[in-house]
Amino acid sequence: MADAPKDLARIETADVVKAYRVRKGKKFQIADCNPADTFGLDIEKDDAKQMLALGVKRLRNLQERLYAEGRWSVLIVLQAMDAAGKDSAIEHVMSGINPQGCDVTAFKAPSAAELRHDFLWRAAINLPERGRIGIFNRSYYEEALVVRVHPEILAGQNLPPRLVTDHIWEERFESITAFEQHLARNGTVILKFFLHVSKEEQKRRFLERIDEPDKRWKFSAGDIVERGHWDAYMAAYEDMIRHTATKAAPWHVVPADNKWFTRLVIAATVVDRLERLDPEFPPVDDKALKEMEDLRKKLVAEKA
Ligand code: ATP
Ligand code: MG
Repeated sequence: MADAPKDLARIETADVVKAYRVRKGKKFQIADCNPADTFGLDIEKDDAKQMLALGVKRLRNLQERLYAEGRWSVLIVLQAMDAAGKDSAIEHVMSGINPQGCDVTAFKAPSAAELRHDFLWRAAINLPERGRIGIFNRSYYEEALVVRVHPEILAGQNLPPRLVTDHIWEERFESITAFEQHLARNGTVILKFFLHVSKEEQKRRFLERIDEPDKRWKFSAGDIVERGHWDAYMAAYEDMIRHTATKAAPWHVVPADNKWFTRLVIAATVVDRLERLDPEFPPVDDKALKEMEDLRKKLVAEKA
């Protein structure tokens, strides 16, 4: 990082990225992750804001090359409990990039039309094209989270009864990993993030939504109901990560009690992955170059 502030000299983006990537998926334990962790950084002391700004700048350049090359697509999956900061992470991390090369899809409870298809269908039709970055604000993973925590949702999915067995979650994980493997083999780079907020910090943010008039529109009584199922959600997240943390589509468990740090880790992870992808502007061959030179002369010689 050439022009990084001095205090950050000791910090390598790759180290930050590595620290939050889930490696031994099968042994993953949520209890080992501290939602308040900041990698020893302090936004006041270390100018982490500047680090994020640098990341966003690098992302802009990388996205332009990704788009021009038109070979790879990038899928960013964001999962979290309510008020963990998904929306603001999207807003900040993507703030510098060209909106024409980026699509955000929010997955809410499926519509009647969506329920007439398999559970991956609505994700498949919203995948990013080559050269584009797609962000899933929630995703097909809800099918093993909210649907698992609320059996009545599964009951309303119109599945043939004999297909709904005790193995359904394992089967969904298998379908998801196969789907992601297929996408990876076809040029989609997948980065998955679980924004890990603590129950205490969620309470503080809900209270803020109630107390601050400008934040009230964000408050939903339903969020309090889901909070009541906290332990069931954590168990579902843990099982989900254990089964679906793969090389082709790694999970990153991002501490989310400090929003600035969440953004920093997501930006660093996306930048690091794109830098290793190293997309290139398409080369111009000699014939095309000659043609451009001729046209250039014509343009310069043009009378006003
Ligand atoms: P925010 O609250 O910040 O606006 P959000 O992602 O929580 O963002 P909401 O509209 O509040 O958006 O919630 C969407 C809801 O849809 C979530 O509770 C989520 O669990 C639910 N949902 C998403 N996918 C499914 C699914 N496949 N089946 C059932 N519910 C789903
Ligand atoms: Mg919500």
